[in-house]
Amino acid sequence: MDTSGLYIHIPFCLSKCGYCDFYSVAGAELYSAYKSELIKEIIAVGQSCDKVIDTVYIGGGTPSALPLTFLNDICRAVYKYFHCQVKEFTVEANPCTSSEIAHYKDFGIDRISLGVQSLDDKILRLIGRRHNAAQAACAIERAAKHFDNVSADLILGITADQSPISDIKILKNYVKHISAYILKLERGTPLALMAEKGEYVPADDDETAARYAEAYEELKNSGLNRYEISNFAREGFESLHNLKYWSMADYIGVGPAAHSFYNGARYYNAPSLEEYLKGGHSGNGRQKKEPVDTLLETIMLGLRLEKGINVPDINKTFGIDFKKEYAATLKKLAPYLEIGDNTIAVKPDYMLLQNAIAVEFF
Ligand code: SF4
Repeated sequence: MDTSGLYIHIPFCLSKCGYCDFYSVAGAELYSAYKSELIKEIIAVGQSCDKVIDTVYIGGGTPSALPLTFLNDICRAVYKYFHCQVKEFTVEANPCTSSEIAHYKDFGIDRISLGVQSLDDKILRLIGRRHNAAQAACAIERAAKHFDNVSADLILGITADQSPISDIKILKNYVKHISAYILKLERGTPLALMAEKGEYVPADDDETAARYAEAYEELKNSGLNRYEISNFAREGFESLHNLKYWSMADYIGVGPAAHSFYNGARYYNAPSLEEYLKGGHSGNGRQKKEPVDTLLETIMLGLRLEKGINVPDINKTFGIDFKKEYAATLKKLAPYLEIGDNTIAVKPDYMLLQNAIAVEFF
C-alpha cells in the first residue's frame, strides 16, 4: 500500500502575532463544535483513504491551546479511522500553552515543534508574541525533558541588529531540529503597517542574508545540518512530514484552509471556520481542486532541498529526458548549480537565490 502524510489544522490562536497571515481566529467557545466537525471530516476522509498514513502533523493556529481531552479525541480518531503506520507524529506548541505537553506522549505524539521565534524579549514584543524569552526557554527545557524529537522555529531578519547566534547557542542544547525562517512582511499585517508608517524598520535584504549566513554557520558547527533552505537537523531528525511537501509526496489536509496533494492533484478546504462548521469540507465533498503543473512544482520544491532534485525519478515520473529537455536552462544556470549524474542541486552559497533560480525553469 502507498503512503501519505496527514495534516490537521487547528485554526485557533489566543491572539494574532504581528507578522502572521495564516488562517487562525480567536474563539475558545468554538473548540467543542470544531472538534466534532473535524472528527467528522477525519472519519469520512479516513474511510475513503486508500493509503497508509505514515506521518501526522497537527499544526495551526495553536494546537497546544486545545484542552488535552480534545487533542486526545482527535488523535484517537486518526488512529481509528485511518490505516496508520506512523513514523512521526508532530504537534505544534506555543511556549505559553505548553505546560501539559508531557501528556501528548500518551496520545501517540512523538515530536514537538515549538514556536520560539526568538529568545530576545525586545524582538518578541515587537512581533507581538504572547510569550517572553524566559517562558520560551522554560518550554524548550520541558519539551526536551519529555521528547527526544523537539524542533524550534526561529524568525530571521526582523531587525538589522537581531543576531541569531545567541538563540542557536541555547537551542542547540535541547532541540534536534531548527526551522529558521526569514521574515516576510505580509501586506496588511500589523508589522507591515508599522513598517509603512515608519514605526518599524525591518532588516534589508543584505542584512537578512548576512544574518542567515551567520545562522547557517552556527547551526552547521552545532551539528544541525541544512537539508532544506529553512530547515536544519541533526542526522536522522529531518522532518519526515515536511519532506513530503518538498518531494511532492502525497499528503491529506483536514480542517479549514488545509491543503492536500493526493494522487497528483491539489485540493483545499475553504479558509473559513464559519463555512467549515456548517460542513463545508472534504468530508462532505466540498473541497476545491487547484490546477497544478506537477513537473514545475517538482523542480521548484526539489531545489529547496540541499540534495536537490533526483533526475532519474523525474525522468521516470514525467517520461522525459530532463537534462536534454532543459539543456539550455542548465547551461545558463551552471554557475549556481551542482549538476551530478543523478541529482541537480543549488550550490550551498546560492541557496537564498533558490526562488530566482527555479523560476528560470518556468
Ligand atoms: S501563534 Fe502562530 S498561527 Fe497563531 S497568530 Fe501567532 S504565528 Fe500566527
